[in-house]
Amino acid sequence: MNTPVEPAIARRPEAFRKPQPWGMAADMMLPDVLTSDERLWAPIAPDIWSRPLHLNPTGGFYAHVLKVKRSGVLQRHRHSGQVHAYVLKGRWYYLEHDWVAEEGSYVYEPPGETHTLTVPDDCSEMLTLFMIHGSLMYVDPDGNSTGFDDVFTRIEKYRAHFERVGLGADYVRNFMR
Ligand code: FE
Repeated sequence: MNTPVEPAIARRPEAFRKPQPWGMAADMMLPDVLTSDERLWAPIAPDIWSRPLHLNPTGGFYAHVLKVKRSGVLQRHRHSGQVHAYVLKGRWYYLEHDWVAEEGSYVYEPPGETHTLTVPDDCSEMLTLFMIHGSLMYVDPDGNSTGFDDVFTRIEKYRAHFERVGLGADYVRNFMR
């Protein structure tokens, strides 16, 4: 079936007149994803930062931009849920795959996969938008768990970071739906 098109004779654009559904979450628009405001980049390891975009405890997912300014193996993890990634700058790969995700690439990571995130030596800065469902379980090469992250651990870490930089822990609510 074709998508209905408004007739060309409409005099002016018309907004939707009806109320939005009860219980709907508020919309969100972040104008400056790659902001130069360093307070919005939470350090997560030496030379690695996370810029929160959307933290959704109800849906069990979060979106953030990962910024990495070092090369080599970053960490190894197993996913319980789907992940979508869009590379904004630089390049990275997983030791388990033969591809390299470069600026402009889209990556889908299926639930259940374990992989080892690596930045090549010739890449001085990597920026990637990750949309992560469920958890990352950090593991050793044999799959033994060494820790985990999910939307709840991320929220706690952003809260601590925003408190530390003077924005206040509740600043994290700007990113929550
Ligand atoms: Fe992953």
